[in-house]
Amino acid sequence: MPAWLQIGGHAAACGRMLLVFCAVVILLTMPFLGLPPRMLLVLAAVVGTLLLGAAASFLIRWRHRSLVSMVFPLLVLVSLAAMGLGTEHAAGAYVGLIPLCFVYLGLFHPGRIALGLVPVALVAYTAMVPLFDPRAWVRMVIYGLIWWGIAQVLALTTAYQRDVHSRLRRDARTDALTALGNRRDLEEQLSAVQAGDTLVVIDLDHFKTVNDTLGHSAGDAVLTGFGHLLDQHLRRRDYAARYGGEEFVLVLPRTEAVQAMNMLRALRTEWAEVSTGVTFSAGIATICPGVPPGTALAAADVALYRAKAAGRDRFRIATDHRGPNREPLDASR
Ligand code: GH3
Ligand code: MG
Ligand code: MG
Repeated sequence: MPAWLQIGGHAAACGRMLLVFCAVVILLTMPFLGLPPRMLLVLAAVVGTLLLGAAASFLIRWRHRSLVSMVFPLLVLVSLAAMGLGTEHAAGAYVGLIPLCFVYLGLFHPGRIALGLVPVALVAYTAMVPLFDPRAWVRMVIYGLIWWGIAQVLALTTAYQRDVHSRLRRDARTDALTALGNRRDLEEQLSAVQAGDTLVVIDLDHFKTVNDTLGHSAGDAVLTGFGHLLDQHLRRRDYAARYGGEEFVLVLPRTEAVQAMNMLRALRTEWAEVSTGVTFSAGIATICPGVPPGTALAAADVALYRAKAAGRDRFRIATDHRGPNREPLDASR
């Protein structure tokens, strides 16, 4: 769907399509109904109203989505009612456009509004179709129920699809073992970091030994426990992802490297109480103006390897990505 058609959102775009579709159907078929010129003029006026409504919808600033999804079918139903009255029921051929309004309502308005528009649709129906036999009201009840049913079935289906879509989206960004963000999610987070934010790369020490001595599932439990502790320990604005294997990346907004260092020390104390001797090392890099997040992440990784080389169970602050004329930063354990 082209971008210009989507002004006001997807519901507005499809609402415009509903109006234009109804107008085109009427326009293309009205010469074949054998109506007198006066009635053809009424049909032409309805076509004009629908097209004008579609054009005017580009100018309106749609604020409430529920209002958008009501206005379009309401305009169609009122136009059909006017058409029925203006043609003395000779426009009954177009009653088939009424269910289309409920298809649209079901897709874009999962609330009870479809039920509210059933009386309007029935008014349009009675204006379009002559009600000769005394059982006409039974027919009307049946039609009303069918129209409402169409909207409800579609509303349930779209709600289900929306739910599946959001679950898939969430799963695609979540690490299955730790429930932290995964690498894909991290990449999106990294694209939004700003100067003054700090990145931390954490790697569990000698983790292979945990797997080798206690088994893979015990290793998994350590990873899950560490992820859980990270989640508990971080501030609300902080973010943690499992980068892969036994490596984690933290994004700490508006945080200096020294603050990150203190946070890691507190994390180490808490982790020591629950872990069975598994320690971790970390590299820290603060994003500097003009330095891309990828460079800062690489610098944090280099700092991590310095921490590993220095004996593990310690943290290092990156020094080499912050440009010249900077005081070297480093820290002990
Ligand atoms: P270092 O201190 O240098 O980081 O040593 P290390 O043993 O932690 O690092 P190494 O890269 O040698 O080994 C990482 C191990 O992590 C190897 C791999 O089997 C294990 N691992 C990676 N992903 C998982 C996982 O999802 N579950 C478990 N249980 N182990 C994993
Ligand atoms: Mg490791
Ligand atoms: Mg590793």
